[in-house]
Amino acid sequence: MGRDITLDAALADYLNSISVKEPELLQKLRHETADLGDIAVMQIGWTQARFMQLLAMFGNVRRYLEIGVFTGYSSLAMALSLPSDGKILALDVDENWTGIARRYWAEAGVENKIDLRIGNAQNSLTELMETPDLELFDMAFIDADKESLEFYFDAAIRLCRRGGMIIVDNVLWSGEVINPEDQRESTKSIRKFNQSVMQDDRVFLSTIAVGDGMTLAIKC
Ligand code: SAH
Ligand code: CA
Repeated sequence: MGRDITLDAALADYLNSISVKEPELLQKLRHETADLGDIAVMQIGWTQARFMQLLAMFGNVRRYLEIGVFTGYSSLAMALSLPSDGKILALDVDENWTGIARRYWAEAGVENKIDLRIGNAQNSLTELMETPDLELFDMAFIDADKESLEFYFDAAIRLCRRGGMIIVDNVLWSGEVINPEDQRESTKSIRKFNQSVMQDDRVFLSTIAVGDGMTLAIKC
């Protein structure tokens, strides 16, 4: 079976040296988020953000749904790659973290593209699914509490157009998915999702080891 290349430090440095640099504003947001402490690991990395930007551009994404905003790194990166009439619906439960996000969206001049709804994402999604004539999304990124993964995925399938893409983050969970001693609800939920999505004929899948592992699913 063909395998993915293993990156040692030197090769990783080389890859970095030939990769597009992280824009200054995203760098600044990364540094400000780092000051929040350990929690900052929740933020996606630039390589992953760049890959998502590329997917969005390739797919002509105009309507993007984000479940799990935190301090706004992924939403800012996506807002920057959407066309001028692009729209983002961003869901998060936390006022403080998303306060930082709002500040950066404004600084980048993309705040008019982003509609942030504060509250439990399950409720926001339920409301959306009941909205008549809702324009469906071209892409959804699922990156909130892992316990609700299955709910979020089903909702994203309902809310995306055929041919739209659903991206699920953290499917390798720092390797904890294969640690039998880890019986946290979050870990169990990711394992269950990974097993079930493989057999899900509503989607065409590709799961890759970028960032903390992500599953890309096109709605059939
Ligand atoms: N995509 C972000 C990281 C998201 S971290 C980035 O790349 O920077 C996960 C986020 O999910 C946190 O901001 C947390 O507040 C949010 N979250 C957790 N449970 C939630 C829930 N039930 N409803 C909505 N948001 C939730
Ligand atoms: Ca994540």
